[in-house]
Amino acid sequence: MTSSTHYWYTPNRESERLAPFATRESASRGRRFSESHPGYRGEYQRDRDRIVHSAAFRRLEYKTQVFVNHEGDMFRTRLTHSIEVAQIARSIARVLGLNEDLTEAITLAHDLGHTPFGHAGQDALNDCMKNYGGFEHNFQSLRVVDELEERYAEFAGLNLTFETREGILKHCSRERAAALGELGERFLKHGQPTLEAQLANVADEIAYNNHDVDDGLRAGLISIEQLCEVDLFSSQYELVKEAYPQLSERRSIHEVVRRMINQQVTDLIESTHQRLEEKTPDSVDAVRALGDRLVGFSEGMQHKHHALKSFLRLNLYQHYRVRRMTAKAGRILAALFVAFFDDPRLLPPETQEKMRRKEARAGESGRARAVADYIAGMTDRYAIREYERVYNPAHLT
Ligand code: MG
Repeated sequence: MTSSTHYWYTPNRESERLAPFATRESASRGRRFSESHPGYRGEYQRDRDRIVHSAAFRRLEYKTQVFVNHEGDMFRTRLTHSIEVAQIARSIARVLGLNEDLTEAITLAHDLGHTPFGHAGQDALNDCMKNYGGFEHNFQSLRVVDELEERYAEFAGLNLTFETREGILKHCSRERAAALGELGERFLKHGQPTLEAQLANVADEIAYNNHDVDDGLRAGLISIEQLCEVDLFSSQYELVKEAYPQLSERRSIHEVVRRMINQQVTDLIESTHQRLEEKTPDSVDAVRALGDRLVGFSEGMQHKHHALKSFLRLNLYQHYRVRRMTAKAGRILAALFVAFFDDPRLLPPETQEKMRRKEARAGESGRARAVADYIAGMTDRYAIREYERVYNPAHLT
């Protein structure tokens, strides 16, 4: 070996950079189909790379967070949201000595199962599926990486490690958990996921609450005056106004939002560090066995964070203009579901084939699941186009 060998990736060096409670790939529960070691990458890096190269990841660019994709180029999409979550989570992972690669893989995959049109789409699809096992976007993210991505020669799905899949599955009914084997165990035994998974979850909330403030203001759906009711916003807004009285509104907003994120991230790091000092888990299994989560805000910040969430729910997500969009989105997906379920011949041949396989296995539920998978995989604009193709008599191709 040459003298540069020590710069190369070697998994056993993880003990030097990771805290005892971090997830180590050397102690991974592995992949469902065993594969040889990826060579010059770690196992979680390989997970991350497979996620980035998946079709579902690329489609996130044209899926909505709150605003419909075509409303404007300045708004967040699920893709930019996922990147923001990964950025926030990785910064925190590094300072706490957690596994940054695993954190990145979980955060980039966390929204892969989202339907078009955000939560409106998920609710509509769940309604269509109520007699067939329901539809839940978080569980769908797991299905995307476990079976729906058909790309590799030797297995369905991306064949990710247990720990990445564990992090993707944030919640789960007891019924589903029982069918998932080892992955579902923690939902039956009230255990916790790894700290990296806990972190991905909170980073998701920090990202969307803060960027929804930014996007909501940009769209003119909420105002600075309204936001001044919210402690997290008003305290930073006053500081920015005092320090930079001449600053334009747009720059002031960005300055406030970045300070809000920083304040929440700092609190999260310090509070989590304190809990880790108190509980001193000495391994990832000790973390899993604890009754409570260790990654989280202080009580005071939790309260403020909750107030921001409530504000957004009331003033942004329930805004009549947002509701008009979500009602329309729900109708589009429900109509597509009915059309395809009633007459599968309207589906592309490849999807019909998948439906036949699912129907042979699970009857009508299998047929419904195939339709739901097809619709869930659509981007906003693709769903609108499919609706036009199926229902608009003027659209003859
Ligand atoms: Mg998210």
